[in-house]
Order: sequence, then C-alpha cells, then structure tokens
Amino acid sequence: MSFNSGKRFDLYKDLLESSGYFKLVCGAGLEERKNVEKLCYIYTLAGCTGFDVAANVDIVSAAKKGIDAAFIKAKDLKLTIPFRPFITVSVGMPGDHHVRKASINSNCIGCNLCIPSCPTNAIPESLNVISELCIGCGNCESACPSTANAIEYNHNAKQLLDVLPKCVEAGAESIELHAGVPDQESTLKEWEIVSNSIPNGMISMCIDRKHLSNNDLVDRIYAAKDIADDRLIIQADGIPMSGGADNFNTTLQAVSIADYIYKEVKLRDSKFTKLPILISGGTNSLTGSLARQCGVKFNGITIGTHARNVISNYTKSPYSLSNSQLLESITTARNLINRNLQKNYSNNI
Ligand code: SF4
Ligand code: SF4
Repeated sequence: MSFNSGKRFDLYKDLLESSGYFKLVCGAGLEERKNVEKLCYIYTLAGCTGFDVAANVDIVSAAKKGIDAAFIKAKDLKLTIPFRPFITVSVGMPGDHHVRKASINSNCIGCNLCIPSCPTNAIPESLNVISELCIGCGNCESACPSTANAIEYNHNAKQLLDVLPKCVEAGAESIELHAGVPDQESTLKEWEIVSNSIPNGMISMCIDRKHLSNNDLVDRIYAAKDIADDRLIIQADGIPMSGGADNFNTTLQAVSIADYIYKEVKLRDSKFTKLPILISGGTNSLTGSLARQCGVKFNGITIGTHARNVISNYTKSPYSLSNSQLLESITTARNLINRNLQKNYSNNI
C-alpha cells in the first residue's frame, strides 16, 4: 500500500484536521523487530491511527506484520478497525537524542545502577548495551555515579538517500526528521532529502526548545515550510523522551511548546493556518486534557514511553494471551488514546 494514493493522503489530512491523530512512538532507535511488531499488534487493535518506527526496512516490515496480525485477530474478537494505521519512519540529525545509542566504556565501576534504569532492558548484566534495543533516552547516564563519563553515545547514522526510499517502498507512508539541533543549514539539507524521498507524502519535523530559542524555532518552521509546503507537520517536542510518569508536570512542556507554535506561527500568519501540530516529548494520559484546559490547539498526540509502559504487562508474548487478557490490554491502550483525543472510540468492545 502506498501513501501516495490519494485516498490515504486525504485520510491522513482529515485525521489531522479533526485533531484525531494518535501516534504510538515505538522509538526512532528501537531496531528490535519483535518488540515493534508486538506494540503495533496491540495498538492497532486499540484503534491507534499511526506508528513511528526506526528508518529500517526490516522494522517497517515488522510494523506491517503486527498490523496485519491485528486485522486477523480483530475478526476473531469481533472488533472493528476502521483503517490501517499510518507508518512513519524517523530519522535524526547527529546530536538529536532520538537517534543516539549508548555504550559503556572502561571508566565503568560496575555498580550496575544503570541496568534497572533502562526502559527497554537494553543493558544486560554483561553491561554490553544491546544496540537494537537502545532508544537513546539517557536514563542510564542519569543513574550512573561515574564522574568519568562511563556512558557515551554514538550517532545512529543513516544514509538517508539510500534508506528512506527503501522504507517508503517497504510501506512507510510518512517520514519524520528529529531536528533537535541548532545547525540550521545541515538540518535543511537533510530535510530536503526527506522531502524528496516521499514527494507526495506528509513529512514531519520534530523540534524542541532545549536546542532552539523561541525565535530559532519559528525560523526553523518557516524554512521547513518553504521546502514541504502543505505537506509539513510540526511535532512539538516538550522535553524529548521525558515521558513515563503520568502527571501534569511531566507533560507541561509538551503542551507549552505546542501553545507557543500555535500563537506565534499559526495565529500570526495565514499561510500556516492549517499547519498540523503534534504534541510530543513528555506526553502521557493527561496531555490532551491539559492542552484543552489551557485552550491549546493541536492536531494530534504522539506518545512513546508512557504508551509502551501501560501495556508492558502484555507485550512479552501478546500472541499467546487469552482473549480476555488481550482485550484487557486493548482497553488499556484504547483508554489512553480516548483520553487524549477525547474520543469515544469503543472499537466494539
Ligand atoms: S537507558 Fe536509554 S540510553 Fe541507556 S541503554 Fe537504555 S535505552 Fe539506551
Ligand atoms: S551505572 Fe555507570 S558505573 Fe554503574 S554499571 Fe552502569 S555504566 Fe557502570
């Protein structure tokens, strides 16, 4: 299925315009096929409208496999899945947290404090980080008492010109560039490649205020629009990968950056009236509610850590779950979607 078909493009646009887009972030760095497949399986059954996965052909295939399995299982459970979720592949600029991989060096004192801090179990007792599982969140570094930088990061470099067309061919329908770096010139070069890799599809730029001033943020959006025109989505990243805890403070910055972009870009310049804004970076079950209470307009919500956490009891072997256990997991995931989008999507459960 190609995103370039008009119907899918229109559907994507409609979802954004109606603020009905919910994207599960599997992780730009998560390159472990089975994990991605399982997440896509449960969240497709729950009515999730999109998935964000690493720019890797095998991972796109794994996401499709999970989606396909969900459609088959839905018949058995007598659930309705209205349409196939959209698959976005994520790439990132060197320096962006979403695309870095941790490794532990010889300065390590072997205290093992980093092991339980890792949300993806990427640190085994051997302390050799499992690269496919590392999502670059930095939790291990925060837990590490070493004063000699025992944890370092490598950029998960992708040859965009090579990998992106292959991902699109494999079924990716949208591309996201994590551009949480100040370097405008090189960011726009990569953005151009992203744009050319999927000329008829939506492309998303993910930006935050840790690396860009408010003025730089606005400049970046204008420059991105010049290249993407009406295919542009802005993913407003509160504090990248800070989610997990389910309270208002955790999601405050995510709502705040969306508010800033709404007021300083959408309201000020009519050419941005329809610019879709996705809220991310510290998102949880309260994000939609906080945004609505604050009068912040948004077109969709993307959640990573918290969304993965709420179904973690079920993702070890979801294909072996009894129907009642599976329905429990679907209800949990669906509640997260509904609370955020204020939908009453029952999925027939
Ligand atoms: S804690 Fe985060 S950065 Fe560290 S190994 Fe685990 S996923 Fe990678
Ligand atoms: S927390 Fe730091 S010092 Fe302790 S085991 Fe992990 S890397 Fe080594």
